[in-house]
Amino acid sequence: MTMKNELKNQLRQQDASALAQGYSPAIRVMEIASIVTFVGLESALVWRLWGNPHTGPWLLLSALLLGYLAADFVSGFVHWMGDTWGSTDMPVLGKAFIRPFREHHVDEKAITRHDFVETNGNNCLVSIPVAILAVVLPHASPGQVFLSAFLGAMIFWVMATNQFHKWSHMDEPPALIGFLQRVHLILPPAHHRIHHTAPYNKYYCITVGWMNKPLMMIGFFPTMERLITWATGAIPRKDDIGTEAALELFAATSTAEPPVVQAAKELLEVTAPSEDTKPASPVRPS
Ligand SMILES: [Zn+2]
Ligand SMILES: [Zn+2]
Repeated sequence: MTMKNELKNQLRQQDASALAQGYSPAIRVMEIASIVTFVGLESALVWRLWGNPHTGPWLLLSALLLGYLAADFVSGFVHWMGDTWGSTDMPVLGKAFIRPFREHHVDEKAITRHDFVETNGNNCLVSIPVAILAVVLPHASPGQVFLSAFLGAMIFWVMATNQFHKWSHMDEPPALIGFLQRVHLILPPAHHRIHHTAPYNKYYCITVGWMNKPLMMIGFFPTMERLITWATGAIPRKDDIGTEAALELFAATSTAEPPVVQAAKELLEVTAPSEDTKPASPVRPS
């Protein structure tokens, strides 16, 4: 546990107001255009699927469910990239994509003050290429229709991700949202809390979080980090938590037990209740 405490002391947190100022009018215009384009493309896809004879309830339901799992994974992957690599000083990418991730660790309530455009613009923008693909794919066989519906569903959930994430940080989300969080159909606050613990290196999935445990058990992100460091020499989280803390964390994780062994040990530790059994938020009188 001493390692963790030392790490906490060394964390060089970036200045929250400087990070927040990176939101320029040009980015806002780009986000509005992205949302409009995204909604247009998804509507076109629904219109095409509606008239197709291969479209049925089971095809749509499985596309929606698989799309949800895929979006959860994508949310984790993109979040991990934004948290772990690059810096806010990078041209274009730095301000539009890396800044929000870094700002979120320093000021996690900022997301609750973002309006609809700032919350959802980014994800609409990155989803546009996939939306175009889903719309132009041929719809001649059930397989093609499924692929198209799956891609459309996945980016729908990708789009919803920041909204679900935002709700998980709200002290008092709307009643229906609170219910969906408690039954873990969208990202529960207590589950997401695990990510917001320094040094912010696990539970990256923020759509619903169903993929977090499986990915942790196979050591997915630590393995990816070791591969990237081996190939490029880059140190993960250098810009987010500072070189010193990042180097120490890197040394600690590369000498740690294999993730499968750690996961097995965690499963054996039955004394601590899992995050899913704790209440999502303090019980409030209604
Ligand atoms: Zn993060
Ligand atoms: Zn968060």
